[in-house]
Amino acid sequence: MPELPETEVILDHLRKKILGSTISGLRIERKDIIRTGLSSWPWYIGSQIRDISRNGKSIVLSCAKGSKTRYLLAELGMTGLFLFPGSTLGRTKHIHIAITLEHAPVSHLYYWNPRRFGRVYLFDRQHLDQFLQRRFGVDPFAMTHEAFCLTIGQSRGRVKALLLNQHKIAGIGNIYANEILYRAGIHPHAKGCRLSKASLMRLYHSTQTVLREAIAHGGSTIRDFCAPDGTSGRFQEHHAVYQKTATPCPRGCATTIQRLIRERSSFFCPRCQKRN
Ligand SMILES: [Zn+2]
Repeated sequence: MPELPETEVILDHLRKKILGSTISGLRIERKDIIRTGLSSWPWYIGSQIRDISRNGKSIVLSCAKGSKTRYLLAELGMTGLFLFPGSTLGRTKHIHIAITLEHAPVSHLYYWNPRRFGRVYLFDRQHLDQFLQRRFGVDPFAMTHEAFCLTIGQSRGRVKALLLNQHKIAGIGNIYANEILYRAGIHPHAKGCRLSKASLMRLYHSTQTVLREAIAHGGSTIRDFCAPDGTSGRFQEHHAVYQKTATPCPRGCATTIQRLIRERSSFFCPRCQKRN
């Protein structure tokens, strides 16, 4: 959390408000948040934000100055947010980075994180490429069903762990892994290689539809998530299983949702979700 849908919502706001703007100031309150390239940050002042993209759950700002482009990659971790002025109320304490902007409808972009899991990297192109290659698998929206079914179906690992493995498929976290598996009718502990072709196809389609529905609803607000303008997500109102322990299965199978605690919490219907 934020997972792929929330990151996509943030991206949409950033593109509308800060794409094409110029960075006129950069204040770093907590230097340990910058994991790479701290000494290069003065370079970013005067650069223009030319592109904003997403890899898994991380956001990349491409900043251009003259013929050179450098990159700011932000991982939001469990609790991180990008905020515009006006949505920082009650959050000023944990603003670690403040970017002052010119030629934009918002004067600042803030990187806020009450915990230390967030990380920011300042990269040149070569180091960005190396980092992305090492860190992230394929984006689920960029995966064909053949590639998806091979990735899951050729592994002896548990299907939920496979969905969560960022090196294989980038962007799915615990909320959406639970919702996707429920939608597909697959048990979280099912082994990838034991799934039938039909189950793998259902899993592929559930992945696409759950993530797209979540984006359309502005993501899920569990704890603190909001878009940069302060808007909360609404997809949590449509969760079928996540944090729904002991509530009736929405399919009406007369069973209640159970919780399994191993690694991350799994929420599932023991009747509707099968192991093959
Ligand atoms: Zn059920």
